[in-house]
Amino acid sequence: MYRSHSCGELRASNNNQEVVLSGWVQKVRDKGFVIWADLRDRYGITQLIFDEERTSKELLEQARSLGREFVIQIKGTVIERSSKNPNIATGDIEVLVKELKVLNKALVPPFTIEDKTDGGEDLRMKYRYLDIRRNPVKNNLIFRHKVAMEVRKFLSDEGFIEVETPYLIKSTPEGARDFVVPSRMNEGQFYALPQSPQTFKQLLMVGGMDKYFQIVKCFRDEDLRADRQPEFTQIDCEMAFVEQEDILNVFEKLTKYLLKEVKGFEIERFPRMTYDEAMRTYGNDKPDIRFGMEFGELNEVAQHKEFGVFNDAELVVGIAVPGAATYTRKEIDALIDWVRRPQVGAKGMVYAKYNEDGSFKSSVDKFYDQEDLAKWAAATGAKPGDLICVLSGDANKTRSQLSALRMELAERLGLRNPEEFAPLWVIDFPLLELDEETGHYHAMHHPFTSPKPGQLELLDSDPGAVKANAYDLVLNGNEIGGGSIRIHDKDMQATMFKHLGFTPEEAKAQFGFLMDAFQYGAPPHGGLAFGLDRLVAILGGQETIRDFIAFPKNNSGRDVMIDAPAKIDNEQLKELHLKLDLKA
Ligand code: ASP
Repeated sequence: MYRSHSCGELRASNNNQEVVLSGWVQKVRDKGFVIWADLRDRYGITQLIFDEERTSKELLEQARSLGREFVIQIKGTVIERSSKNPNIATGDIEVLVKELKVLNKALVPPFTIEDKTDGGEDLRMKYRYLDIRRNPVKNNLIFRHKVAMEVRKFLSDEGFIEVETPYLIKSTPEGARDFVVPSRMNEGQFYALPQSPQTFKQLLMVGGMDKYFQIVKCFRDEDLRADRQPEFTQIDCEMAFVEQEDILNVFEKLTKYLLKEVKGFEIERFPRMTYDEAMRTYGNDKPDIRFGMEFGELNEVAQHKEFGVFNDAELVVGIAVPGAATYTRKEIDALIDWVRRPQVGAKGMVYAKYNEDGSFKSSVDKFYDQEDLAKWAAATGAKPGDLICVLSGDANKTRSQLSALRMELAERLGLRNPEEFAPLWVIDFPLLELDEETGHYHAMHHPFTSPKPGQLELLDSDPGAVKANAYDLVLNGNEIGGGSIRIHDKDMQATMFKHLGFTPEEAKAQFGFLMDAFQYGAPPHGGLAFGLDRLVAILGGQETIRDFIAFPKNNSGRDVMIDAPAKIDNEQLKELHLKLDLKA
């Protein structure tokens, strides 16, 4: 028997009990005639005491040879501590060691296994198994487990069945590049790893499963923008015989349930906002509504004066930054520099201070009098003491620049409280999105999403205007879930592929299986998927998904611990009928 108790278990009520513990040596304090060691496992820390008088000199010597992270087993007696530690659960007791066995020695770890470690990110990733011993990482993984368990419990109770779908499949276009796997048995052919189980879950609906879910890995070969992972986890769901409303209701209930179970946070109905409204009001299809600073469009009140920059702009739009009228010239200049960074891309920023005394002071006083500026204040909802920040230019670009500024300022002003949760549904997404580079439309959600009833005609005349039965669940400025009501009719699906630029042959070659299935009695169906990693991170009060993944990849898609990806040897290549054609 390695242990009678865990290292987090013993209390004063165990005093005088003989116990066996196993774990890692957190630290050793040598006072000469007595040595204390902290023994750690997943459950906590127990203080061990080696005492020359009460045990033996040899044992003391043995304890002296212990190093950090040694794996040991001890036998001893629980005794009351003379100085108690109220900060840890086992702080009332210590274990007077009678026998010590080193189960495994350890090298000195490359960073301290403490809550606040001295190890940088790269080092911790290389030795992730040591990082996982630290409370912050360990607790995140336990938290993730808890969320996943609650998800499974809720969905099972609602009648959903978890069905596994294959990883070796054919491409599912969800807007990213596929990871591919060469087939040894089928020379020159490749599997693709699923970007999501999209087509399979639809086929499960054709198969009559009615309500499906799966906590599942998805793979997307994207350039890793901040905080994305090439493999990530979805809570993937699909339901038959449903309309958008049915889906929103079930998953609103799930989200409420999770907020309540894991955070003790209660919330009534989630607000709903159309995509157009979200873009107009927040410049963003995943608005953070924990705070205001809503956009005020200023075209009407700011154009047709002498200020050419505004007159030439498609959109003039501003936000009122609460309490920021006191910003110094230097602070405002820094903000202007911030919006001009290439990542944001604004040309400049006009501002107006709405002073506490009701007067205005702006960077464009030459063109606008107090009365004009009062109109800006009315349009942006500014109050005395606020700073009005105004951007202008191409409508879409300006909205996204102002959205970036809004988020940055909210962050600086501490308005993004991680313990507050503000979910909402964004609905009525456009069906198609214009790719500015190629001039082609592609599916904004994915090609299986149905257009809103009655909008089919628009597909030819004004494709960009067609709205879809598509929705996102947004939480604190992050898209945590998204889905749609699907096309379940073969002809409609064929029309959709045509509009996405597939020839009938290409559509048949890639998606024949789905369109065939639609001919055998496909029920109306729809669903959505949550990003589990991000959901867990937000519920955990953080925004970095990497901290909630046991073995994440770095920004170059590498696992630096196992050193993947890696070369394979020539034999393997030959077996796969592959020849490399490397540049260097
Ligand atoms: N497959 C979609 C995605 O991964 C979700 C859905 O439409 O259900 O975003």
